[in-house]
Amino acid sequence: MQDAHAAPVRTERLFARIGAFLDTHHLSPDPAHYCFAFAVISAPDSLLARRVAELTQGGVRLKRSDIEMLGGRVVGGAPIEPQRTDAVPIDERAADLVEETQQQVDGFAQMVRDMQAETEGFGRDLEQSAAAIFRVPQIAEIDAIASITTTMIGRIRDSEVRLAQATAETDALRAKLAEARDTARRDTLTGLPNRRAFDEAFAERDVDAGPYCLAVCDIDRFKRINDEFGHGVGDRVLSAIGQAIAAECAPHLVVRHGGEEFAVLLRGLSLVEAAELLDGVRATVAAKRFRNRESDAPLGQITFSAGITAIHANETAESACARADRLLYAAKDQGRDRVSAA
Ligand code: GH3
Ligand code: MG
Ligand code: MG
Repeated sequence: MQDAHAAPVRTERLFARIGAFLDTHHLSPDPAHYCFAFAVISAPDSLLARRVAELTQGGVRLKRSDIEMLGGRVVGGAPIEPQRTDAVPIDERAADLVEETQQQVDGFAQMVRDMQAETEGFGRDLEQSAAAIFRVPQIAEIDAIASITTTMIGRIRDSEVRLAQATAETDALRAKLAEARDTARRDTLTGLPNRRAFDEAFAERDVDAGPYCLAVCDIDRFKRINDEFGHGVGDRVLSAIGQAIAAECAPHLVVRHGGEEFAVLLRGLSLVEAAELLDGVRATVAAKRFRNRESDAPLGQITFSAGITAIHANETAESACARADRLLYAAKDQGRDRVSAA
């Protein structure tokens, strides 16, 4: 009696777990998928179940190729290929590809130029030799040589034209790649360099070119702008403040570090000088009177707070940013619209 009662409960549970498995792995309720799920769930100690457990560790979804590799079959639409947590973001992959292609194109362009230079020299020499042949009294062999040489000169001229075209095309491609490289390092909203550009500039800083300081600036109570005036106005204010900071800090590098935050990499200034410069920028921004472009209504005073610190030799960007961030939050705690330096 007890067994007869217990069996449906176990069956129900198994059924529910199979359903959850199909759901988690984006598999349709197809018999092939049921069979696979049943095999995994009904024998948790089996090799199959253990392999599935390894592949799905940390909440990773099974891929079609995983299921097929394990002897299962995927019917209809494939499960969406999961993004593993350690996957490289698409924009970074694209930027790496641009970099790689640029190197290849540079190599190719150089090769085409070398070939062009060689062909030109060869063509010139051949033309001089042909002119000498034509001056020799006419005999049959010389006629044959002259005719072959004339054909070769024609071919070389054709190659020169084609090489010139290839050069023009590679130059155009290089220009496009340079543009793509720049786009990958620029923030689309503000037009300022982005975090990738910052990380590169930080890594490539010339320690002999004087001290470096890092400032992290964050707009104060920016959520209010979005909440009161909408995201569109917020975007424009964000952009205007970024531009203002960049113009006031020039020639130092100003990037949009994320959200409503900007990072400044200052070169050749002591911490005291850099903090003074940044406080001037803060005062300039605080004195601006922003208005809604459509209604001309004032948006109220908009300020930013900043944390600024001297970058130590051999320090990583993460470590300097963490210190600047702590100072930024101290500035926020002390009432905002201020620069905190240490
Ligand atoms: P605090 O003074 O503490 O920095 O206050 P806050 O409101 O600026 O800070 P909080 O971090 O709470 O909010 C930041 C806001 O910035 C929230 C987010 O929606 C907004 N934000 C971030 N990026 C953008 C953007 O690209 N456009 C717009 N319009 N808003 C953004
Ligand atoms: Mg803020
Ligand atoms: Mg912020």
